[in-house]
Amino acid sequence: MREQITILGVPIDNITLEESGEITKKLILESHKTCKMIFAPNTEFVMKANKDKEFFDILQQSDLSTPDSVGIMLGAKMQKKKFKQRIPGQAYFREVLRVAEKEGFTVYLLGGMPGIPEKTKENVLKSFPNLKIVGTHDGYIEGEKEREVIEEINQLQPNIVFVAMGAPKQEKWIYQHRKELKVDVATGQGGTFDYEAGRIKRAPKAIQKMGMEWLWRLTREPKRIIRMSVLPVYVIKLFFKKDKTKGKFEPIKAE
Ligand code: UDP
Repeated sequence: MREQITILGVPIDNITLEESGEITKKLILESHKTCKMIFAPNTEFVMKANKDKEFFDILQQSDLSTPDSVGIMLGAKMQKKKFKQRIPGQAYFREVLRVAEKEGFTVYLLGGMPGIPEKTKENVLKSFPNLKIVGTHDGYIEGEKEREVIEEINQLQPNIVFVAMGAPKQEKWIYQHRKELKVDVATGQGGTFDYEAGRIKRAPKAIQKMGMEWLWRLTREPKRIIRMSVLPVYVIKLFFKKDKTKGKFEPIKAE
């Protein structure tokens, strides 16, 4: 039985980082290429989902959803609940790679600008030298290219495909193609490859621990301010809709 906390209608699993790796392993072993869906909701996700019914409905159907941000922790706190642990996207990525290396699971990296998934592969292999990364492709695959990539993935039949195209694009992509993808699990990774490839630097550990990485990212990528302008609205919504139930879509009006 999954223990979940629902934040503005989006169900999120209450698990530790270690459990996230174990559950992913279990999903892979049970899947038989049925493309289980793993998502990592953060504050922006939840806000986008409350304006976009398609995205909202997709998030209801995850096989695992990890709590990715400080805002998600706050959402639980305002319901007098508590997540066991915050699981930043990159930490989850690395935990799954650790499990994959140990278990011999194969991995495909899809997303980011050309060169980024290849550089990600090169860098993660330094930490996990026996990991089987069987393929990579950038995340700009409109039209013909998309078909080719799906065919390549289906030939390789990896256990895990990491899809890093940003939200909600990656979740919609996984959902739309889940029936044809011959993979065990597909998971949305946002900007993780950009960090792993060294394109964007993560905040120093002390800042990460303080839960202030969002502020660090803002100083690095000022255009994020537009995306972050949803945060005050998020807090207000949390305040007024503390216990909104799973699966109930009540659109938030565009501000
Ligand atoms: N991206 C992609 N295909 C697209 C649009 C975006 O592969 O069509 C990539 C982009 O290069 C970047 C990532 O998706 O690496 C989005 O990162 P962002 O920081 O926006 O994601 P977040 O972690 O905030 O969800």
